[in-house]
Order: sequence, then C-alpha cells, then structure tokens
Amino acid sequence: MIPVNILIVDDRKENIVALSALLDRDDIRLFSTTSPNEGLKLAWENQISIALIDVQMPEMDGFEFVEMLKSNPRTKDILVIFVTAISKEAKYAVKGFGVGAVDYLYKPLDPFITLAKVDSFIQLAQYHAEIKLKNEELQNMAVVVKNSADIICSVDAQTFLIQNINPAVEKIMGFKAAELIGANIINFAIDEQKEPFKAKLNEIVKDGLHSSVSEFRFNTFNNVIIWAECRVAYRNKMLFLNISDISAQKNFEDQLIRSKESAEYGKKVKETFLANMSHELRTPVNGIIGLTNLLRKTELNEQQNSMIDLLEVSSQSLLGVINDVLDISKIDAGKFKIVRSSHNPNEVIRAVYGLLKFKADENNIEFLLDIDPEIPVNLMIDSLRLNQILMNLLSNAIKFTERGYVKLIVTVLQKNNVKAEIKFTVEDSGIGIPEHRLGGVFESFEQAEDDTAAKYGGTGLGLAIVKKLVELKGGDLIVSSEQGRGSTFSFINWYSIADKPKDKVETKAAGALEQFENVNILVAEDNLVNQFMLAKMLKDWGIEFEVVDNGRKVLDKLRAKDYDLILMDTHMPELNGYETTKTIRSSFEEPKRSVPIMSLSAAAFDYEKEEAISAGMNDLLSKPFQPHELYVKIKSLLTANELVKNQV
Ligand code: ADP
Repeated sequence: MIPVNILIVDDRKENIVALSALLDRDDIRLFSTTSPNEGLKLAWENQISIALIDVQMPEMDGFEFVEMLKSNPRTKDILVIFVTAISKEAKYAVKGFGVGAVDYLYKPLDPFITLAKVDSFIQLAQYHAEIKLKNEELQNMAVVVKNSADIICSVDAQTFLIQNINPAVEKIMGFKAAELIGANIINFAIDEQKEPFKAKLNEIVKDGLHSSVSEFRFNTFNNVIIWAECRVAYRNKMLFLNISDISAQKNFEDQLIRSKESAEYGKKVKETFLANMSHELRTPVNGIIGLTNLLRKTELNEQQNSMIDLLEVSSQSLLGVINDVLDISKIDAGKFKIVRSSHNPNEVIRAVYGLLKFKADENNIEFLLDIDPEIPVNLMIDSLRLNQILMNLLSNAIKFTERGYVKLIVTVLQKNNVKAEIKFTVEDSGIGIPEHRLGGVFESFEQAEDDTAAKYGGTGLGLAIVKKLVELKGGDLIVSSEQGRGSTFSFINWYSIADKPKDKVETKAAGALEQFENVNILVAEDNLVNQFMLAKMLKDWGIEFEVVDNGRKVLDKLRAKDYDLILMDTHMPELNGYETTKTIRSSFEEPKRSVPIMSLSAAAFDYEKEEAISAGMNDLLSKPFQPHELYVKIKSLLTANELVKNQV
C-alpha cells in the first residue's frame, strides 16, 4: 500500500511530537515543521494529501497558511484539518471552513477522535487520488479517441441514436461530428444495406456480444460509397462502434480477383491458340514430310536426290522449331509429364550418339563417349525426354565447336538395389560463353551473342527446354564455360532400377511392308496434301479406300456401305472428327456402330488425345508420322477387330 503524506505545521515542538507519536503508522508518511513558510515549501515539494495546521502561529496564522495553499494549483486539493486550542466558537469554525479547511481537531487532542478523523480523511484522500488517476486516464483516452483515424462512436442500443462521435467522421464521411449527435447511425448505410446493418446491431444487442466485426457499405456526405469495417461492442445499453474505411483494401482485393480471372482467361486463350496453331502448323509440315518420303521412292536423278535431302532437313528443322515452341508452352502451362518406363540406358545414350556422330564427323570434330561400366542395364527412364535433353546439349556442343572435341560422359555417382544417381556431362572445346551471359542462355529465345543466330542459326529455345526438363525430372542443369576454350553442361538425376528391360517393338522399314488383302478403309481428311499422301501410302499397301473431306460425308458413306476402318482427321469443316465419331457410336446399327476408328490429328496436347478416346475413337496417331507407324497401327486395329468379330 502506498503511504499517505501528511504534513503537520505547529509552532510548538511538543505538539508536533505528540501528534507524530499518534500518527506513527506504516500507511502514513509524516512531514512536520514549526515554521509555516517551511510548511508551504514542504507542501509544494511532497504531494501532501492531508495537512494538520495549528491555527495560532506567530509568523503566519493557520487561516493565512491555508489561503496560501488554496491559491496554488499544486496544493489546492490538500485536505486541511485545523488543530486549535482556542474557543470552539462558531465564528472561528466558520472562518476555517471559509478558507477551505475540512475539519477541526481541538487541543488537548483526544487520541481516539484524532485517529478516527485522520483515518476517515486518509480514506477520503485515497478516493481523491483514485478519482484523479481515473480522470487522467479518461483524458488520455479522450486524446486517443479524438485523434483516431477510425470513426469511434457510442450509440444508444435501443434507438441507435449517436451519443458521441469523434472528429474522424468528418475526414472519412464528410459529416461534422457535432451535427451527428442524436442522428441515427443506421442512416450511414446505403439504402439496400440499412436493414442488414440494423439487423446486425440488433443481433449484437440481443446476444450481448462484446465484440463483433462486419463489413457494410456506407454513403458519405458527398454521396460516395465507401466500404466500412464495423467493430461493435455492447455494454450497459450502449453500442460502441469503431468504423474503419477499408475501401482501398476492398478495391485492391477486387483488382486482384479481376487480374486473376483475366490471367486465367489469358491462359485459356493461349492454350486454345496454341492448340489451333499447332494443328495449323503441323498439318502442312506433315504434308511436306510425307511427300518428301513419297518422292524419295520415285525415280530421281542425283540433283533431285540432293534437293530431297535438303527438303527433308528443312522440314525436320521446321518441325523441330514448332515442337520446341509447343514444348515450352506446355511446360509453362504445367501440362508436361515425365513418363518413365524400363530401358537400357546404354541403348538410349548410344542411339543419340549414333544420330549425331555423322554431324561431328562432317565438322571434323572428335566425338567421344564415356559411359560408366557401373551403369545398371535396366532403368526407369523417360527415354523421349532424356533423348531430347542429350540431343539438345550435344547438338549445341557440336554446333558451337569449330575444332577439337565434344565428349559425353555418363557417371554413376551412387547406386543401391533400387536406384542409381547418374551424372550426365557434355563437354566441348568450342567457342564458350561469355561469363555475363551464362545465366541468360537458359532463358527462352536468348542466345549468348547478338550475332549467334546469324552465325550459327537456332532460336534460343533448346536450353530453356532442357533446363525445365531436367528440373521436372528433379535435377538441375549446371553450366561452366570459358570464352574461347569450351563449355561444360551437366545435370544429375536419380533413376529407379527396373526389373526387366522393355520388350522391343519391331519397326520395319517402310519399303519392306507386307500387302493387305481385302481391306476397305474410309479416309476423312480435308487437307489436300494429306489426302494425297494417305492415298499413296494406302495404295502402296494394297488397301482399297475412299476419301471424303468432312464428317457429314463420313456419315453418308457409312450409311451406304460397311468399312473395315475409318481414318479420321479431327479438325474438319461442317462436322469435326469427334462429333462424327460420337454420332457413329450412338446412332448407327451394328456392325457399323463398332467400326474401328483411328484419329489422325495434329493434336499436340494430351487433353486433345483424351478427347479423341472419350469421343469413342479406338486409337490415335499424331501428325506428322512415319509411314510405317501408320502401317503398324492399321494392322493392329484390324487384327483386334478380327479377333472381336470371331469371338461374337
Ligand atoms: P539455340 O542453340 O537454338 O540458339 P539454345 O537455347 O540451345 O538455343 O542455346 C542458347 C544459346 O546458348 C546459344 O545460342 C549459344 O549462344 C549458347 N550456347 C549453348 N550451348 C553452347 C555451347 N556448347 N557452346 C557455346 N555456346 C553455347
């Protein structure tokens, strides 16, 4: 407990001693003096709560002393008790009270009465101190409320009339605080939200909630609508509201939602564009590659043969660029999957090596292959992607090396019974990459120098794809290079060890394919070049066929006659391949209803393939394709259909 400071002023020392002896307690701190002037000084310096003052003193009498105390703000609240021996006449008492004394003690002092009075004044002093403290707190809070950026107001819980509101309301809503006293707070809300706002406040009152947060739209003095976050508490039949303007935050949220929607829309548009573009580009390339194949089988002189070679190289490289652009888009769209199956890594690596060896020989570059003998013979590999990665890195190495060597090193870093960690390194002694471009070459469409495309060709897509593929497989592509000395690209991936190697699929060369007998196929294809090519191939294989150029004609033909197989393009005018297939599968009678249908499409996306299968097609072949691929697919579809027919 904090002791109460009591001051005793008496010109006679013995009186001070007697009073001090009476008041010698832990809850009292005594200050005493025989000099009134000294007494004033003590009162000034020591937060005195109660003063016991002798009335008759030579220097200054008690009344004058109290007047001095009362005239000073620092001492005016001191509770004064006069201690006097003089007559108890009423006029002295009145004079004493008149200057501000609160009571009298009479000499000789009765200890019980003295202590009782002092005790009650100590309590009074403590109440005073508490009230003062609370007042200070209230004043501090008032400053906070007055300066708050939020609207703070108290509202009658029954009528919703505003009792008090801080000046922030003018800044946020344009209304003067004083003019809102007595106004109904419900009117802050815009018309269509008045009822919900009222319902919310009623709910808070009914449930006696100490805190509830909700958002409403308020109308300002200037008829601007703002978003208000209302924190409401209920107490003593009053509602206390803290209202923040959250319009900026709401606008930001709206913008975010809108940009997310437009990003998603943009992504969809991009995908559709890519799917269409891929079809548009791949279809003619398919035609060029197919025709090149067919031309090669005709009688040609040497010059024509070399022109065919060039045509083939050009069309393959065009197809390469189209596929690269598509790959990048598919990876970016998260539509790229790594599909692993059992392979002998030696075979995959040597196949790439074999394909590029002639190129290295042509450029007079030494092409070295160093495969760790520890490499397991069966690994779960996405051979298509590993092939793509190595082809890219090695083609670059050969392209950018004018003399010296290119080396592919395959090292087993660690292995156990189930998996192996393998490092692939492609090293060359070529032109190298300037240090400041080492990071840039992995970006799409970026090349090391401005004149790279002019000198060496290329699009700057290869490394971007390789990097993303390596990352998809869980590794990282690393480059080190020194300009003029060469470059080293490497990556490390884990591979699971497979039980047994995959059975090899026999692929015969196109020339050695057996003839079909009594096979009748309907071809639906709107592209003239592709029609020509397909016709040529089917004729070569002894197949009878008819060609139509849209889905509607397919239905007409099928109504009139049975076919062993339909080869169906997907994108066709009038009725596309999917719709045509759905109609056949749902509206035709057997056996027409179950005729095998193979989709021949330039589809590049998995979802297009899924669409073909779910439309009811039996199989699909993506354009561009090699003749023998089509041959194998036709054969297996016809065989499967024969088996089904025999079972029925
Ligand atoms: P492209 O080969 O089509 O230009 P890439 O993405 O494969 O595109 O390569 C990007 C660039 O990185 C190349 O243009 C070249 O400047 C540089 N680069 C790639 N590999 C090598 C290499 N082995 N030696 C020197 N520079 C290279």
